[in-house]
Formats: sequence, C-alpha cells, structure tokens
Amino acid sequence: MTTFKNTILPCQKCGKLIAVKVRDFENGAIQCTHSGCGHINQLTQAFYDERILLGLPSFGQLVYQQDPALRYPLRVGVNTVGHSSSCTVHTERFMHDGKCYLSRKHCTIEVLFDKWEGKLRYTLQDGAIEPESGQYKNSLNGTLLNGYLLQNGDKLDILDQGLVCLGGVDIFRLEAYFIPPSMLQTYLMSKSFEPDETQ
Ligand SMILES: [Zn+2]
Repeated sequence: MTTFKNTILPCQKCGKLIAVKVRDFENGAIQCTHSGCGHINQLTQAFYDERILLGLPSFGQLVYQQDPALRYPLRVGVNTVGHSSSCTVHTERFMHDGKCYLSRKHCTIEVLFDKWEGKLRYTLQDGAIEPESGQYKNSLNGTLLNGYLLQNGDKLDILDQGLVCLGGVDIFRLEAYFIPPSMLQTYLMSKSFEPDETQ
C-alpha cells in the first residue's frame, strides 16, 4: 500500500548523496554512509489521517442498471449485498420471469481508505460470511465483475463505474466517491520518527 521507493537523497548535513531504501522509510531514519559524517537523517512519512472518514458525505453507491432510480449507498468497511434483510446493502428481490437469481447474501464489497493515496478502494468477493459458522458461503448463481466470473477466493478491486453482475442477470454500477483534494489537504499528516522510538 505504501508508495515508498528505493531512492537517493542528499544527506541533510554533508550534502553527499545516500541511497535510501524502503525499509529506511519504514524505520523513519537513515544514517549517512559518508566517512566523517554519520549524520542521522530523519525521514518523514506523509499520509492522510483516517479521521477524514468521519466527515465524508458518501462512500459511494451501487446503481441498479435495470432501474437507475434504485441506488444503494455503501458504507466504509464490509458491505454484504443481497435480498436478505440482514444485508447492509439490502436489495429488492428482483424477479425475472418469475425467478430470482440473487442470493440472500450474494456478494461482499469492502470499502477501504488508502491513507497513502488518500482515496477509497473497493473490493469485491462472491458470497458472504455466515454469522453462525463464520465460514464463507458462495452465492448460488455467481458474481461477475465487468464480465469476469469471480472464482472461489477472488477478491478484486472494483474501479469507478465498474459493473457488478449478480446471478448473471442483475447489474449494478459502482459510483465511487472521490474525496475532494481541498478536504484531503486538511488531513495531510507528516510523521517523523525519532531514532529512540524505533529501538
Ligand atoms: Zn552526511
């Protein structure tokens, strides 16, 4: 999830270049390797405070393609989708020629906050966890993402406008929520590590 890369930075004391590896960023500091210097260079990590989630007006929604008036808001964390009233995304029992292809708990959509990128991520799995057994139970008729049939254990990213097809019939389009840059800016954090903290 982090965006750190191996890189080269000038030493904050002697100005000579030092190679900085990802693990140095994780440690928060790197010692200058040039003889006669040895300065401990502090490295800072920039990220977005997760408290931004408390103020978001939306976490995105699913729009039913056969009737776009039907919109289902998502919440942060785990969303179960199906026609069971215990689902967090409780859909109608859509009938097609007298048959319903949707399972009571059909799929699981997780909404996560990527604090390094400052955006919401959406993942899709077929089926849902059964509260009684704690086991994952697949849907009866399967889940497709943009035409790809999810296999057992698949957990795929849904991008904005991605199409989730449940049971081969009912299609939902993801309208992702994008956090406004002006809001992100106010939650930008920078953590610098003291060498003592890592010991
Ligand atoms: Zn140096």
